[in-house]
Amino acid sequence: LMGQMMNQPLLISSIIEFAARHFPDNEIVSRRVEGDMHRYTYRECEVRARRMAHVLQGLGVQIGDRVATLAWNGYRHLELYYAVSGSGAVMHTVNPRLHPEQIAYIVNHAEDQYLFFDLTFLPLVEAVAGHCKTVKGFVLMSDRAHMPQETKIPNLLCYEDLMASSSDEYEWPLFDENSAATLCYTSGTTGNPKGALYSHRSTILHAYASSSPSALNVSSIDTVLPVVPMFHVNAWGLPYSVPLSGAKMVFPGAALDGKSLYELFEAEGVTFSAGVPTVWLGLINHAIQNNLQFSTFRRTVIGGSACPPAMMDTLMDKLDVQVIHAWGMTEMSPLGTAATLQAKHRDLPKEAQRKILQKQGHAIYGVDMKIVDDDGKELPWDGETYGHLYVKGPWIVSGYYREEGGDVLVDGWFPTGDVATIDADGYMQITDRSKDVIKSGGEWIGSIDLENIAMAHPAVLQAACIGVAHPKWDERPMLVVVKRPGQEVTREELLGFFEGKIAKWWLPDDVVFTEALPMGATGKIQKNRLRDQYREHKLP
Ligand code: ADP
Repeated sequence: LMGQMMNQPLLISSIIEFAARHFPDNEIVSRRVEGDMHRYTYRECEVRARRMAHVLQGLGVQIGDRVATLAWNGYRHLELYYAVSGSGAVMHTVNPRLHPEQIAYIVNHAEDQYLFFDLTFLPLVEAVAGHCKTVKGFVLMSDRAHMPQETKIPNLLCYEDLMASSSDEYEWPLFDENSAATLCYTSGTTGNPKGALYSHRSTILHAYASSSPSALNVSSIDTVLPVVPMFHVNAWGLPYSVPLSGAKMVFPGAALDGKSLYELFEAEGVTFSAGVPTVWLGLINHAIQNNLQFSTFRRTVIGGSACPPAMMDTLMDKLDVQVIHAWGMTEMSPLGTAATLQAKHRDLPKEAQRKILQKQGHAIYGVDMKIVDDDGKELPWDGETYGHLYVKGPWIVSGYYREEGGDVLVDGWFPTGDVATIDADGYMQITDRSKDVIKSGGEWIGSIDLENIAMAHPAVLQAACIGVAHPKWDERPMLVVVKRPGQEVTREELLGFFEGKIAKWWLPDDVVFTEALPMGATGKIQKNRLRDQYREHKLP
């Protein structure tokens, strides 16, 4: 017996249609790269998204064609999210922080037909345009006044001119919800970047699940500012989950320093945000140094790499901002887990609650996970046994775009490349990425634990722990540390700080101080580069 419900495909266009119809006057506010502020409503956004979809049709963009962007978080980027996917084409957000050669590789691999870009990236596009073989036109996401007088870019078009010449006589088409909607490449720390090709269905299911109260808890009373870029796994789905919830949206553009963010949070009454740990460093420092508090900002998601407990404590205890630690990856759209408490945790002392919140969290409905040993045997959920983390669910890749890397699933599960524990209540904690785990005398040492301890020292701004070759133990942990400006700490003092906090054999063998750590395109410390840099380092 079949159910008798309407069989309506889950399409991305339905999100912006919903927001425009049911939250028409709720605002989208953007700090533009041109320097000024822009504000309009969901109603206006939907009309412009349709006009842009019409433009794409006129440019000959077909269903399934890839359209690339190199852009910050802003309203035009949001319009493209809906215009491109909504019209049946595939939105391909390219990370502008990648090396130009990698950008050209990705654009060619995706066979992008058009490339839309922010004014900031004009020099970058001038450098790569000649290498982008399939791109028929480049669209500067600005108005006529900002178009360059002269340029080497072939077929350079102006976004606002195209918009003005178009009409909103366009209806969102209906098609199969399993059609490709967006394409994101992994940052490819090893080998070439690989594409994760999301469908309309997977994107909508992810948006639904990620906005729910036990996950990110986005609702229409929120004002959401995604610090995480729209080119980093679709800003973790916020461009979908925020309109779906009817919340006000605030886009920071290119100004991601602590002062600019703080001012925007205050001016627009931001309640909720999301970003990787490194972006919070700047905002926290700005607030603490200037003795500032937030008037409306109360919750933030931190993920992408482990949130150091010291950062969580500062945000929660000193700035009254609740931290939701979350874990995911490009291959997972990205959200897999979020650390939120359950009813049975309500009466626990604060420290015990904090221990739970520091983990990467509980699976959200739609994601299943397990940990396995080297032979693929499932390991117990006891919070101590660690193993390779495998996941499955409707918004997790079944393979990479154009079959790169071949068959990636193991018995229907996706191996994440992370090493983790899962406790009896289902909370997962990442020990490390398998390629970052330090192997000492046949045993594993988790670098994240050591970094978290170092980061709790008041003189430490950033810390990375890597394995360095050792004649007897194969590898031993070493800390690479950036000190806080104006603060001092010696190697011996820092090593002393670890005593009593971990098993003796986990104690780092050495500490080196540096001015800055190598950062990747998504704001994560590049440990592979650190390992190269300290390959010849002699441990004492
Ligand atoms: P890339 O490696 O290309 O930057 P992702 O941004 O998809 O790709 O990174 C996914 C990886 O980031 C995860 O597999 C995990 O190692 C790490 N990660 C994400 N969130 C967390 C977290 N909260 N704690 C620890 N590691 C995390």
